[in-house]
Amino acid sequence: MKLFEMNHVQKSFNNGTLHVLKDISLCVNEGEVVSIIGPSGSGKSTVVNLIPRLYDVLGGKVTVAGVDVRDFDLKYLRQCIGVVTQETYLFNGTILDNLRYAKENATLEEIEAACRIANIHDFIVSQPDGYNTEVGNRGLKLSGGEKQRISIARVVLKNPKVLILDEATSALDSISENAIQDALENLMDGRTSIVIAHRLSTVRNADIILVVSDGKIVYVGTAAYLTDHSIPY
Ligand code: ADP
Repeated sequence: MKLFEMNHVQKSFNNGTLHVLKDISLCVNEGEVVSIIGPSGSGKSTVVNLIPRLYDVLGGKVTVAGVDVRDFDLKYLRQCIGVVTQETYLFNGTILDNLRYAKENATLEEIEAACRIANIHDFIVSQPDGYNTEVGNRGLKLSGGEKQRISIARVVLKNPKVLILDEATSALDSISENAIQDALENLMDGRTSIVIAHRLSTVRNADIILVVSDGKIVYVGTAAYLTDHSIPY
C-alpha cells in the first residue's frame, strides 16, 4: 500500500533565490526501505525534512496515506514520524528523563526494553547511578555514539510508523559503529524507512535507491539496477 508520495515538489530558500528542489516525485509503499544518495548539497535533507513539515513545499505536494501533509494536525503528523540524525539533543537531567521525553508514561520495563534494542542498556546500568545518571553540563559526558544510541532508544519508545534516518558521516570507532548499526537495524525492522545513506551496506539492503543530483531525482532503482547500468553510487 502506498504510504507517502511527493508530486513535482519544489522548494527554495533565501526568499526564493536558492532553488534547492527543482522537481522531486517519489512514491514509497508501506514497509519499504528507501535509500537516498547523492552529492553533498544536492537536496537530500531538504527532501526528507518536507515529510514532518520542518518547512513546506513551494510547489507540488507531499502526501501521507493520500492526505496532504498540510492538512494533518502537525502534532499527530510528527508523532507518526521518528527521526534519527547525526545531531542528538539531550537536555540536562537524568538518562531516564531524557528517555521519558519520547513517551511520558513509559514504564521502566518499556524503557529498559527500548534501551536493549538500542544497544545502550548495558552501558547505562554500568554507571553507578544507572538510569538516574545525570547527563549534560551537570553530569556524565556521553560520547557521540552513546548519545546516538540514546536517541535511537527514544525513537524505539516513540514507535513511529515512518522512520527518517540520516546516517552518520563522521567516523566513529568500529565498536560504536557496529553497536549503532545493529541498533538501527533493530529499529528499522518492519518499519517504512527513508535513509540518507552514506554506507554501502545500507544502499545494498534498500528496496529502492533514489539518486538525487542538483535538486532532481536522476535515478530510481535497486542497487543491482544501478550496478547493471554502470551507474556509480
Ligand atoms: P544534502 O542533504 O544533499 O547535503 P541539503 O538538502 O542539506 O543537501 O541542502 C541543499 C541546499 O539547500 C544547500 O545549498 C543548503 O545550503 C541549502 N539549505 C538547506 N536548508 C536550508 C535552510 N533551512 N535555509 C537556507 N538554505 C538551506
